[in-house]
Amino acid sequence: MRIGITGTPGVGKTTVGKILSKRLNLPLYNLSKLIREERLYSSYDKERNAYEVEPEKLRKFFEGKESFIAEGLVAHYIPVDYLVILRAEPEVVRERLKERPYSQRKVEENVEAERLAVIATEAFENPNFKRVIHIDTTNRSPEEVAEIVERTVSKGEELFEEVDWLE
Ligand code: ADP
Repeated sequence: MRIGITGTPGVGKTTVGKILSKRLNLPLYNLSKLIREERLYSSYDKERNAYEVEPEKLRKFFEGKESFIAEGLVAHYIPVDYLVILRAEPEVVRERLKERPYSQRKVEENVEAERLAVIATEAFENPNFKRVIHIDTTNRSPEEVAEIVERTVSKGEELFEEVDWLE
């Protein structure tokens, strides 16, 4: 079972990934750490204090791996059986990101990205998944979100919860 977890920063990829990795007994990869350690980047973006992933290198790293959970902003580049796209109301994203040592600009960029569904759109425009689970985490605990993912995966089903942050 290959599972990717993607979404805007602050939606809960790392938190949900840890719970799922224990429940499903699958190794967990944090993609920002992996990209740094395995040098799967093309350049370093000084302004954003982030590495620019090289999608081909990332895919190559996961080639032949059949059991894993990969969580991170760029998980949608990796071919997987399930892509989990976590969503959260932009206001919730803002509150969570304010706790981080991010600049105000970085916080607002991510809030806007969530509002406009940037990550979800990218994932659907260039699908590398067999099945998708698109969840609104807003009024749920991380455990509840993990539970829904586990249940859906175990049944071999898909899940698509509608969200509209533009209203
Ligand atoms: P990401 O990896 O997407 O940047 P993190 O998992 O690092 O997000 O942080 C998400 C934060 O939001 C954590 O502090 C987590 O406890 C909190 N949180 C609250 N509710 C949820 C939820 N339903 N799902 C995931 N995270 C949640």
